[in-house]
Amino acid sequence: MALAGRWAGGIGRLWIVFLAFVIGWQSAVHSVAGTEIIPLGAIFDKDSREIQGAFLYALNEHNQNVSGRHFHLHAYVDIISTADAFKISRLVCSQFSRPVYAMVGYVQPDSFDTLHSYANTFQMPFVTPWFPENVPNPSSGLMDYATSMRPEYHQAIIDLIHHYRWDHIIYLYDSHDGLLRLQEIFQSIKPSRADFKIQVVHRVVSTHDALRFLRTLETTNRWSNKYVVLDCGTEMAKNLIIGHVRDIHMGRRNYHYLLSGLVMDERWEEEVKEFGAVNITGFRIVNLYSPYVKSFISTWSSLNPEVYTGAGTSYISAQSALIYDAVRVVGETLARLQRKMAEAFDGTSELKTPRRITCDFNQAEQSIWEHGEKITRILRKVEIEGLTGNISFTDKGKRKNYSLDVVEMSYNSETITIGKWSDSTGFELLPVKYTRLPQDEVPLNKTYIVTSILEKPFLMRRTNGNYTGNDRYEGYAKDLCDFIGGYLSINYTLKEVADNTYGALDPNKEGGWNGMVGELVRKDADIAIAPLTITSSRERVIDFTKPFMTLGISIMIKKPVKQKPGIFSFMSPLSEEIWMCVVCAYVGVSIVLFLVSRFSPYEWKVKESFSKPSLTNDFSMCNSLWFTLAAFMQQGVDLCPRSVSGRIVGSVWWFFTLILVSSYTANLAAFLTVERMVTPIKSADDLARQTDVEYGTRDGGSSKEFFQRSKVSVYSRMWEFMSSRPHVFTSTYEEGIERVRNSKGKYAFLLESVKNDYINEQLPCNTMKIGQDLNSNGYGVATPLGSPLKERLNLAILSLKENGDLARIKNKWWYDKTECDKEKKETRTNALTLSNVAGIFYIMTGGLVLSMFVALVEFCYKSKMDASKAKLSLSTAMKAKAKLSIAGTQELDNGRLNNQLYTPSNQILDGDIIQSNTHTQV
Ligand code: ASP
Repeated sequence: MALAGRWAGGIGRLWIVFLAFVIGWQSAVHSVAGTEIIPLGAIFDKDSREIQGAFLYALNEHNQNVSGRHFHLHAYVDIISTADAFKISRLVCSQFSRPVYAMVGYVQPDSFDTLHSYANTFQMPFVTPWFPENVPNPSSGLMDYATSMRPEYHQAIIDLIHHYRWDHIIYLYDSHDGLLRLQEIFQSIKPSRADFKIQVVHRVVSTHDALRFLRTLETTNRWSNKYVVLDCGTEMAKNLIIGHVRDIHMGRRNYHYLLSGLVMDERWEEEVKEFGAVNITGFRIVNLYSPYVKSFISTWSSLNPEVYTGAGTSYISAQSALIYDAVRVVGETLARLQRKMAEAFDGTSELKTPRRITCDFNQAEQSIWEHGEKITRILRKVEIEGLTGNISFTDKGKRKNYSLDVVEMSYNSETITIGKWSDSTGFELLPVKYTRLPQDEVPLNKTYIVTSILEKPFLMRRTNGNYTGNDRYEGYAKDLCDFIGGYLSINYTLKEVADNTYGALDPNKEGGWNGMVGELVRKDADIAIAPLTITSSRERVIDFTKPFMTLGISIMIKKPVKQKPGIFSFMSPLSEEIWMCVVCAYVGVSIVLFLVSRFSPYEWKVKESFSKPSLTNDFSMCNSLWFTLAAFMQQGVDLCPRSVSGRIVGSVWWFFTLILVSSYTANLAAFLTVERMVTPIKSADDLARQTDVEYGTRDGGSSKEFFQRSKVSVYSRMWEFMSSRPHVFTSTYEEGIERVRNSKGKYAFLLESVKNDYINEQLPCNTMKIGQDLNSNGYGVATPLGSPLKERLNLAILSLKENGDLARIKNKWWYDKTECDKEKKETRTNALTLSNVAGIFYIMTGGLVLSMFVALVEFCYKSKMDASKAKLSLSTAMKAKAKLSIAGTQELDNGRLNNQLYTPSNQILDGDIIQSNTHTQV
């Protein structure tokens, strides 16, 4: 028994493997009586090590399990490395000449045509895991001797596209076969779906190229949904998707990959945390839950991968499973043939010593494999259960009655089977049970994408110097990122949120949210570290940690121009109504004093005069007013009430003036020295009550949502006001702050207190916070729902709080950076200036001028009266009066009454003088 193998150069290990197998097999042959050897031809591409491993195992298993059979399979294996048609023809001819009963193998599509045509010419049954797409059919009526183990499942791809209701796809392929498959898909879909279009078709030559292409797509239309049908091998599919997920510039949740090859039979779970960010759907041909596959896998996983390449794992790739099944099909075919033609193996049969086939094309009649047709017909009748499910063929050698599992990979979940597709029933959805992957492990070797927003002082671009990576940014959020990165021992890439928004419901965006919240929902980012407010609506779609900062919505207005104290600021210590009351009290008290003095007999006194004594009362109305005024001014006059009632009036008035003047003095200094700011709005209530000053919030954030949802009447009124004037909303905080600064007090901005506090400490220092915070909230670090990072982030925030790091960076970015200190100091050192007290000078001057004017009026009036009494001319009287005034002054100064006009006829005139003298003596 001659055994021969043609080994390709450089595949030494495989050679050893086969030798080992042959030795083992020989001993088996001789140990089992009556078994014969049936030679098989095998051709493999040199890059199909795993397929060879599965082939070897299948052959070995077949030969060890001989019960009920009387033959062993023996393989002549050729491994080729090129698509050189001549070399292949020589190989095939040499295989045919051994002779072999059937051929099994896997070659590249370029070599397949040669092999296929030899098989058909010499009627040699050839079983292969799969055909290339464009296999030419033999002329009509002739049998095709090649059989593909892979079922045709274009319809499954089409059914899935229908199932997802995709109206467009992006088709990426890496081989000519891929293009042919696209043609078939398009031709099948188009007639029934006029709206369906292939958005882009691109042949990818490498993962790098595919990523570059996707990035270009991303720049053209970032937010659209992208359904990518990916027609390539497992390696490229995995690398492309990993590359995509790691690329921070690419969207995620708006991508859905449909892997059209049978690539999902391999294990993807290890990378699921990476892939989880994008949707992936694919097919599996090996049903891992069937008892047959389970028992195979239990042996396969225990095999030595050094001997059987690809073994030693708990899964098997589709190609390996198909070649395994191919060997089983050939074995079963030959067993059936053996049963049918029992005599074929009794030593006399023609079948036992088959005629050699030679590739001599000069012969008149081409020699063919005499049992080839019979074997092929039997092969097409075979019906067994294999790794790829039920195996049976149509007359044309195509798989029938097969099914594929449709599997999906979603965030943090194991690959799940969402449906089954079979050639007889089409696509059927299965009830899905998502199983979470264990969450305790946070992958550390991954670079996490941290999204944030440019917001002073949380995140700012560094302007001085040439920085790269995360160092391009500074601010509170950047410091927090560094602390968290260090605490969790993870790497991160900081990126600015694409739409410069915090996050609000937006039906136009994939995932229903925009801003940072949207990026987390779509898994475009892993963490958001920003002034992102924790709200109930956001908490439903993303996870928040405990707050790292607390705040509330507050009102920012333009600082009113400080009012210089006016010239009458000495009036300010008492309000206008107090001044009014004081005037009333003054008049009232004077009247009461006048009345009680009139009624009280003790207030009357006898006054001696030259003619006769008369009763007089000091408290005329005029004197009462004068007395009360003197007391109010803290002055004394020579008038004094003598009656008890009069003294009571005097006492209560003195007490009243004592308290009032003390209070006035206490307040006066403050009012004269402090430049006061008069704010037109002092609270949210004030804002809600008026319409003159407009007010608004930042769009797309929690502040706007607060007013929108508030049931408090003041805030809902404010919302009505704002929503009826959409121009009051701003797209950034900066815009709102600028509006406050430039609107001359006619715009108030509602923003979070921490930002308000920060801006008020920045130049030009012309904004201020008024009133109390409207609510109480917190900023939290956010992650996508169910992220394994959440718990660790929580602990990080709490410990940063406890060890004071958060307080330290808050001081660093808020209070240490204040720019308005200088201004405050200037305000405090203001001194009293002339302008503060100018009013009293004016009043005094006015009083003096008035008194001189009144004196002149009195003089004229009295002169006129005297002139008419003395029957003198007015000018004479005035001259005499003037002389008297001057002389009188002198006389009075001496205390003597010596007057030229002192005559009996002018006693009244003198009487007046005496009376006034008397007054001063009282
Ligand atoms: N920090 C806020 C947010 O998370 C922004 C705002 O609306 O004031 O939406």
